[in-house]
Amino acid sequence: MLLTCRCHSEFQQFLRKRLPSLALLEPIRLLSFSSQLAKVWLLNLDPAIPLLLPRYSASGRPAVFDPIDLLRSLVLMTSLKVPGISQWVAMLKHDKVLAILSGFEPHKTPGVGTFYDFFHRCWLEDRTKIRNRRRKLRPPLVRPKDRMKSGQKLTPKHPGVVGRMVKRALQGRSFSLRPERLIQLIFARSCVNRSIALGLIPDPLALMVAGDGSPLRTGSSPAGVKVCHCREQGTFLCSCPRRYSDPDAS
Ligand SMILES: [Zn+2]
Repeated sequence: MLLTCRCHSEFQQFLRKRLPSLALLEPIRLLSFSSQLAKVWLLNLDPAIPLLLPRYSASGRPAVFDPIDLLRSLVLMTSLKVPGISQWVAMLKHDKVLAILSGFEPHKTPGVGTFYDFFHRCWLEDRTKIRNRRRKLRPPLVRPKDRMKSGQKLTPKHPGVVGRMVKRALQGRSFSLRPERLIQLIFARSCVNRSIALGLIPDPLALMVAGDGSPLRTGSSPAGVKVCHCREQGTFLCSCPRRYSDPDAS
């Protein structure tokens, strides 16, 4: 259950209260995070509140952590280029500065499960659908024979996919069921609209947007998990279908 979230001015009030003592205790460390401090001070996530509230049930045990603080903490994690949640959770636990900049009380910071629960709430896809996709067996990954040289790009797995999507969009087909729509809406309302209001995007109707892709690291094994019985029969190299814990990673 979630009744309400802390608004941005209340978060700024929290920082005003906490930062002076932190500046006395760890002045140099705090100074080293000045760009992150500016970021969280300016990043007003109030537009995300009405978007996140419906993702929590109206009854039951109250949520321990404010989702806006979790979101801000993830922005901070990305800004500091921390590659994974487990590492970030450990850093928050031991670092007062990072906890406070996220909006948490020091020594009362979220665990790994809390962040993953937040991800599930933000990813608008049916849980059974995800589970079934994970259970589905797929052929083993064929590794390329030649190692890639540094700077060399991966060959496109789905050539022409962008063209096909543009065609569909021009035909008026909406992409309204995409699971990432809530995250995109939060970004649009909190960052893009704010940038327009500040005049950083002078003519939003003539805006051109370019996209690019980049490989992301995933925790799951690219080789998949064997579910066949070949190994028991002495065959270690087989090409039976396998299970992949992160089917979205390819
Ligand atoms: Zn096999």
